[in-house]
Amino acid sequence: MSKSGISESAIAAFTASERARFIENNPTSIGLAKRAKANLFNGVPMHWMSDWSMPSPLFVQRAKGARFTDVDGHEYIDFCLGDTGTMFGHSPDPVARAIAEQANNGLTTMLPGEDAVVCGELLAERFGLPYWQVTATATDANRYVLRWARAITKRNVLLVFDGCYHGTVDDVMVRYRDGKTVPRAGLVGQAYDLTQYSRSIPFNDVDALETALAQGDVCALMCEPAMTNIGMVLPDPGFLQKCRELTLKYGSLLVIDETHTISTGLGGCTRQWDLKPDFFVVGKPIAGGIPCAVFGVTEQVALAMRDAQKTVSEESSGHGHSGMGTTLSANSLAMRCMRVSLEEVMTESAYQHMLPLASGLAQGLRYLFKHHQLNWSVTELGARCEFQFCATSPRTGAQAEAAFHDSLQMALHLYLINRGILITPFHNMTLCCPQTSHADVDRLIGELDSALTTLLALPG
Ligand code: PMP
Repeated sequence: MSKSGISESAIAAFTASERARFIENNPTSIGLAKRAKANLFNGVPMHWMSDWSMPSPLFVQRAKGARFTDVDGHEYIDFCLGDTGTMFGHSPDPVARAIAEQANNGLTTMLPGEDAVVCGELLAERFGLPYWQVTATATDANRYVLRWARAITKRNVLLVFDGCYHGTVDDVMVRYRDGKTVPRAGLVGQAYDLTQYSRSIPFNDVDALETALAQGDVCALMCEPAMTNIGMVLPDPGFLQKCRELTLKYGSLLVIDETHTISTGLGGCTRQWDLKPDFFVVGKPIAGGIPCAVFGVTEQVALAMRDAQKTVSEESSGHGHSGMGTTLSANSLAMRCMRVSLEEVMTESAYQHMLPLASGLAQGLRYLFKHHQLNWSVTELGARCEFQFCATSPRTGAQAEAAFHDSLQMALHLYLINRGILITPFHNMTLCCPQTSHADVDRLIGELDSALTTLLALPG
């Protein structure tokens, strides 16, 4: 019997029957997957789209609110929501209208419009930092923040927590193993040694944090307020305050990446928990699902950025490249969508619907696992919740990783997909959006109940 309480042979039998069911029920998706192999590498437009639990990629026809329909006509309740990109529902009406309006008014011009000014005002009011920049993705935002942090502090080392993810930023691709920073496994084409300028330490470890910062070479600590990419790991009481206190003590900047933790409530953890970062980052849902991300800075950081900019500009006689910015960053369509998203979609009333639903889902999951005598934990963060195959919620990335049971996770996900429910792949995370209903939550719990009943009845 594995540590999750479910045997590998039961999982194998269960998975075989679910794979057969998927293949039988999805002839159109399977036909498209075959066709796609001719011209898309691995048959998908982005490689990780083939890493899900299905035996062949699922092709989507349409998505709206909390639901999408696949090309074979099955309807799904979506608890993945584009892994947060559509945390406020697919194609929210105000964003859909904004896209239609903007469609004939120019999509990208390399110049700002009034929407940019309004977005700056709304962002400052929402998140509490006075100055903002807009990028195409959260990956880009984090990459540029790191450049600024290095330029300002004239230090090179980035400090991150073991098991973090902040997008495909090279510098964060490190892990903590046996007291040392090592490159993350699985990187393709990594030419240089990432451990030279990146340091990784365990989450929730104040001593390790102080030791890492005390070396005096750390430009910034980049972190999520709660880890969400290796399963969910919540901060110990007072840990984030220690992050602020110690970064200040040792002259390092604090970067809070709220790309996922924006699920916590209006203004993210930064506002809800009064985190006082030097840099604040949020991407994915900020423009309702249109590619867009932002980073905000304090008054003091903005002053230091101006100084750094002046020095660099003098060195390059004004003709250099900053190493930041992509051509489509802050394009007219993204700015229009971000404006309406902040004004009409990402609102207090949206959170008021999402938070109690997610909390009810977490309660339902706890009850379900107890009922099946499974020692699995459930962690909540606002509209987001996660179940993990371990008895108590993990405190570090390594503990969260130790609770992974990939074959079981994929078996459960596939069972749910075969019954019209999608949860976030690669771990067991769910999000509730403003259109998710109590009945949807009950369906998820009911189907998971049936999955566990079936699995546990199989010979171990
Ligand atoms: N930061 C965090 C915390 C994330 O979870 C992610 C993506 N999962 C990113 C940044 C990067 O976002 P994107 O892939 O949209 O660049």
